[in-house]
Amino acid sequence: MRPQEHVKISAIAATLALPWLKEDIWIPFTSSILIDVDHYLWYVINQRNLSLRATARYYQQGKPPQRPEVRLLHQTPVVGCLLLLAMLTRSRVLGLIVAGLLFHISLDRFHNAEMRHLQHSLNEQAHATCPNCGQQDRVLQLHSVRRPRNLLDRYNPDNFVALCPPCHQQAHKRAKNAGQTV
Ligand SMILES: [Zn+2]
Ligand SMILES: [Zn+2]
Repeated sequence: MRPQEHVKISAIAATLALPWLKEDIWIPFTSSILIDVDHYLWYVINQRNLSLRATARYYQQGKPPQRPEVRLLHQTPVVGCLLLLAMLTRSRVLGLIVAGLLFHISLDRFHNAEMRHLQHSLNEQAHATCPNCGQQDRVLQLHSVRRPRNLLDRYNPDNFVALCPPCHQQAHKRAKNAGQTV
């Protein structure tokens, strides 16, 4: 899920939880957004590039490399240890931080499940044949061709096309050259 979508959904959740958490609401809200800092730090250390734009471009490739260390704060054992620590120390602040992290991770899980479901149904529709080059490929990748109109439109199949990996890479190269980030 894109960071800007996380910000939007976390803002809605924060508004809903405001009556209970009052001024502490910024704690889970901030941690649910800043969790993605692990991606940025990994990129900075590995690519020796501090540019936020370059990082965004890197993760907007068709299939960015998924390494566990890239998602350190998204790992269940890491968050589990923090949760345990929050319980042992009875720290409300740490508990709220962990709540924000868990909220973010649940959204990612939901997003990945929806995307897998979409990929499966679009693959079936295309009979495992890339609509761009006609090649047979068992696993066509989802490429977004249209920005969702709103959050509810996010998983609309019309927003995607299933392409073979080479055509998917080509599509991203073309979009990059045209200066678009779909
Ligand atoms: Zn193709
Ligand atoms: Zn794509």
